[in-house]
Amino acid sequence: MKTTVIAVDGFASTGKSTLSKRLAKALDFTYIDTGYMYRAVSYFALTTHLIQDNIIQEEALEAALSETSFSWSTASGSKQMLFNGKAYGDELRTLEVSSWVSRIAQLGFVREHLVEQQRLLSQLGSVVMDGRDIGTVVFTNADYKFFLIADPKVRAQRRLDELQAKGEEVLFEEILKNVVDRDHQDSTRTISPLRRAKDAIEIDTTSFSVDEVFEQMMSVVKA
Ligand code: C5P
Repeated sequence: MKTTVIAVDGFASTGKSTLSKRLAKALDFTYIDTGYMYRAVSYFALTTHLIQDNIIQEEALEAALSETSFSWSTASGSKQMLFNGKAYGDELRTLEVSSWVSRIAQLGFVREHLVEQQRLLSQLGSVVMDGRDIGTVVFTNADYKFFLIADPKVRAQRRLDELQAKGEEVLFEEILKNVVDRDHQDSTRTISPLRRAKDAIEIDTTSFSVDEVFEQMMSVVKA
């Protein structure tokens, strides 16, 4: 059976997950949020004291990680990704997790483990996968590659609206700093830095609605 891979990479809060989810739904593909995986590992490190005095206990994290796994559940009616058998939600999207995730994502052993898991998780059929290195590392032969960019202030405002809707008290400046810091760390890291794959279609989502960008992406896939 021929399966299709759509890779959606780009900077933080450019709309990758919203758009990838919609594409997957419209095409009846599986959606894989790889940011969720890096966030789950960061949350795991924070809650199991593998980050102490602002330092990641790398050896202990590497050992602990080899005992962990990601899987799928269909218990809720739709496919949900589980980490160590548990589904995670808003706890992965707090500012605390966001402020550690790019440091965790720089570690070679974390990336190796997660890339392997990502390839395994997508063996079941066609997928839309969003992240930072999908088109450049995880699936270099993806059938379609998109790279999303947007003005940092617009992205920070989107993330602020999302967090405030969930009742988190945060300042615009804090979010903007986190978005800009993550972009910098993600693009300058040694292993798998965030960059546009040569064959990816770049879309600037700054002044487009989700519907408009979705239509642009769908027209590429349908063509
Ligand atoms: O997509 P999201 O903003 O949830 O990703 C959180 C962080 O996880 C990113 O800022 C990046 O540091 C890391 N990440 C990554 N590679 C991916 C997906 C996410 O390094 N494929």
